[in-house]
Amino acid sequence: MIPFDNSYVRDLPGTYLRQAPDVAPAPALVVLNEALAQELGLVIEDAAGWFSGAVVPKGAEPAALAYAGHQFGGFSPSLGDGRAHLLGEFLGPDGRRWDLQLKGSGRTPFSRGGDGKAALGPMLREYLISEAMAALRIPTTRSLAVVTTGESVLREAGSLPGAVVARVAASHIRVGTFQFFSARGEVDKLRALLDYTIARHYPGAGGALGLFDAVVERQARLIAQWMGVGFIHGVMNTDNMALSGETIDYGPCAFMEAYAPGTVFSSIDRQGRYAYANQPLIMGWNLARLAETLLPFFDADADRAVDLANARLGGIAEIYRAEWLAVMRAKLGLLGTDAGDGALADDFLAAIQGVDWTLAFRRLAGAVEDETALLALCEDATELKAWLPRWRARLRPDASPALRAVNPAVIPRNHLVEAALEAATLGDLTPFHALLAQLQDPFGPETGREAFTLAAPTGFGRYVTYCGT
Ligand code: AMP
Ligand code: MG
Repeated sequence: MIPFDNSYVRDLPGTYLRQAPDVAPAPALVVLNEALAQELGLVIEDAAGWFSGAVVPKGAEPAALAYAGHQFGGFSPSLGDGRAHLLGEFLGPDGRRWDLQLKGSGRTPFSRGGDGKAALGPMLREYLISEAMAALRIPTTRSLAVVTTGESVLREAGSLPGAVVARVAASHIRVGTFQFFSARGEVDKLRALLDYTIARHYPGAGGALGLFDAVVERQARLIAQWMGVGFIHGVMNTDNMALSGETIDYGPCAFMEAYAPGTVFSSIDRQGRYAYANQPLIMGWNLARLAETLLPFFDADADRAVDLANARLGGIAEIYRAEWLAVMRAKLGLLGTDAGDGALADDFLAAIQGVDWTLAFRRLAGAVEDETALLALCEDATELKAWLPRWRARLRPDASPALRAVNPAVIPRNHLVEAALEAATLGDLTPFHALLAQLQDPFGPETGREAFTLAAPTGFGRYVTYCGT
């Protein structure tokens, strides 16, 4: 039983289309997140039926949500859920409201040329990486289940097993949701969406300005956390930025291994718009698009509204830098705060160019006493050696355990993710479950699980990810 209470379809008429998911011919459960189901107080009676879309659970009111979005900078006025169905919302045991959504569950009026489907590999990828992000304590949508449909889907790689991921999110309200109604001049619906978003996510915000400030703060913290673990979203279009501050829409995302600010994995990101080091700038750009939709609510006077927006947009870089510095202070194990911490962090990054990001931070814990293993990561350790005394002078007394508690030993390494998904597509889920188990304990000791903590063998080569899969 899922205690549905569907506020979005109830309170926001005209912002979605009612649309039942496809009935999968032969649904079969691949993975169910029992711990999450329990945490959320869900009793899953028919996982394969419910999470494939074949059986609509009692109380669900399936809908495809409307949204627009800037994709790689170009505006698409009508995107929407082209292969996803919001089943509805439920309240968890703590009273928090959650969306339950299926992705890969069939065509909707927003599908345009798409088939509305998804292949097993990419749905398991979302499951693995979103659960890894949650274990890294980074705000994210969660994966509840993956189910195969019994159908094949046609992709560039050929005919692949079709699958659906069931995910849970604080909501699916995107910057692009606001853009959809703003672009159409539907001010009443925009107002209703604004009020709804404030009530659902930022009840203390008061109004549009308060909402905007709160979203800026959450996004700044989120992106700073991404940067801390080397996460590259890959497709930070405005339709993939959630007002809740959760990481959403795991497509071509991947974790950076060797540190290089320009790292890009997505095959379609040829200009590097969504490269690792560009993510904070794109966050600001996307927030400017959100501010544009909110101008009528910032102030009745258009000039004043623009002034209010500009003042806020001008402050985003500083807000982000403060969040990033907080992340870096923790990752470096520093005691309190010092005016030189920004330079200390910047200089560490300069010294680890080309070095595995995850290992460099993880080995700081050992380097408190003995820097050999850390320095061994660098081809030329001169810069890092010179940096160490400055760092040691700033360390908190309990630095080693504190560093291990914030710098993960295990992240979803690209070669392991690929191997797990390849095997799963051929019917062997053993590597998937083995990797998932490790990802659920990112901060534990390295010993005994070196296959998961070490960088890819050199033969793995350059990693490329794909969109719309
Ligand atoms: P994404 O790149 O996954 O964020 O998706 C961008 C837009 O394309 C959204 O409106 C999706 O619903 C839509 N889309 C992606 N894949 C498909 C598909 N196979 N069929 C229909 N729509 C899709
Ligand atoms: Mg998307």
